[in-house]
Amino acid sequence: MGENGIARDTKSVVTRSAEETIAWGREFARGLRAPLLVLLTGDLGSGKTTLTKGIVAGLGAADEEDVTSPTFTLVHVYGDDGGHVSAGGSSAAKSVVYHGDLYRIESFHDFETLGLEDAFARPAVMILEWSEKFPLQAPWPQVRLKLEHMGGDSRRITVG
Ligand code: ADP
Ligand code: MG
Repeated sequence: MGENGIARDTKSVVTRSAEETIAWGREFARGLRAPLLVLLTGDLGSGKTTLTKGIVAGLGAADEEDVTSPTFTLVHVYGDDGGHVSAGGSSAAKSVVYHGDLYRIESFHDFETLGLEDAFARPAVMILEWSEKFPLQAPWPQVRLKLEHMGGDSRRITVG
């Protein structure tokens, strides 16, 4: 494991149901430490939002059933109970978690209006779907998770 609990080497896993992806996300989240940017790439329906349910739940910020797609709302915030982030962000368990989806954002102007950079003021975990659409100036370490359809209910998740 490297700093922030991110495995240094590329590794991949194939899940065979949404539940398995959520379970993998929970496990993956256990070692994560804020501040951290989690970039999710993969086609529509590849499981980015499903995986986020597991990560948010694993970080203790919300129950998985309360994590919904921010496709239209653009950004959801979990675990923000008034700024009780642990000192120095030493534990992600009490972290604020942002979950953004840039799929519907069409212009750089709209992207800037989101104000994602404002979130970098305090340690948090920011999970972004379709982050590759816009350049985000992020001072935090990042981890990329790639999701791929493998036919039926199978999905490959690659860390790296
Ligand atoms: P995205 O956010 O990438 O567009 P979603 O997570 O919203 O994708 O949707 C994935 C869909 O695929 C969900 O309906 C989910 O139930 C289904 N699904 C089937 N098998 C899997 C799997 N192994 N992992 C993740 N989702 C799966
Ligand atoms: Mg999604």
